[in-house]
Amino acid sequence: MTDNKKRILTGDRPTGSLHLGHYVGSLANRVKLQEQYESYIIIADVQALTTHWEKDENLARDIFQITTDYLAAGLNPELSTIFVQSMIPEIHELTMYFSMYTSVNVLRHNPTVKSEAAQHGFTDLTYGFLGYPVSQAADISIFKADLVPVGEDQIPHIELARKIVRRFNDLYKPVLIEPKELVGDVPRLIGLDGKAKMSKSLNNAIFLVDTPEEVKQKVWNSVTDPSRIRKTDPGHPDVCTVYEYHKVFNKDEVAELEDSCRKGEIGCVNCKKKLTNKINELLDPMRERRQKYINNPSLVKDILMAGTEKAHSVAKETMVEVRDAMKINYFDVL
Ligand code: ATP
Ligand code: MG
Repeated sequence: MTDNKKRILTGDRPTGSLHLGHYVGSLANRVKLQEQYESYIIIADVQALTTHWEKDENLARDIFQITTDYLAAGLNPELSTIFVQSMIPEIHELTMYFSMYTSVNVLRHNPTVKSEAAQHGFTDLTYGFLGYPVSQAADISIFKADLVPVGEDQIPHIELARKIVRRFNDLYKPVLIEPKELVGDVPRLIGLDGKAKMSKSLNNAIFLVDTPEEVKQKVWNSVTDPSRIRKTDPGHPDVCTVYEYHKVFNKDEVAELEDSCRKGEIGCVNCKKKLTNKINELLDPMRERRQKYINNPSLVKDILMAGTEKAHSVAKETMVEVRDAMKINYFDVL
């Protein structure tokens, strides 16, 4: 039935709640495309361990949280298969085979690996951290995904996945698919601090689970043009985080707001109120959908278990082909 549909594989590390950056960078695309593509959504708990190996007590909570965020954001478990990475041992097997011919220097020079290592203060990189892009290549290719909806930071990883797959197909047999990235409307949403990208780990995020009041407080405290003291002072939208968000969440009004700000006709208070309302309008339907799962948490577990079982059976099928291509099928041939 779904056999001739192209496939999507994408996901997140369970390291905290999802935020507006995830939504505009990747999640909105997944919700839109799930009707058209056969969608697999990976909760990458093993990848979370590459930076959070000592914080394993939070994993179960974060896996539950992220699944609830997905469902609230509009992923439909009838259309999107949501599953847990560690429960599919075949992914780790494929990672091992890929790592036999992937160069350590290529991983060391990967710009996202470098910037994340710096962000976490890693100098002596672990084997697992350095190799996580190889594991991602296995996540994607074991499901034979054509398309990977992601934010901008992931582009080098998808390029590497393509290379790893191409090499596999050349070395052994063409059984895997070369994936392409699909970057969202906003490839890199800035955080509330106005400096780094919005991120779970940097405490600069508006979360999908935030209450209307929390959204209001965060927008209220966000950084605007520091040279603007009185409402009538001409503003500089280019240095204002609130303006950055209006560009994304209030497309209809942003041009007019920019103009009024530059002329000193609209004050920051009013501008922040408008933004708060727009973000809350986006989050309201998610809050409504989330309630169903908060009232009945076992639904979340059921969805995850069913998704993991389905994903496992697909991964097993691919691995039969992979082992066959690599001639690791001794008992069939001896
Ligand atoms: P962590 O701090 O734990 O790395 P994160 O917030 O960077 O968390 P990830 O789980 O690493 O989130 O990323 C999941 C997906 O969301 C990736 O496709 C990534 O590109 C996208 N993404 C994350 N943050 C943003 C952002 N601020 N803007 C656009 N896309 C983003
Ligand atoms: Mg990240």
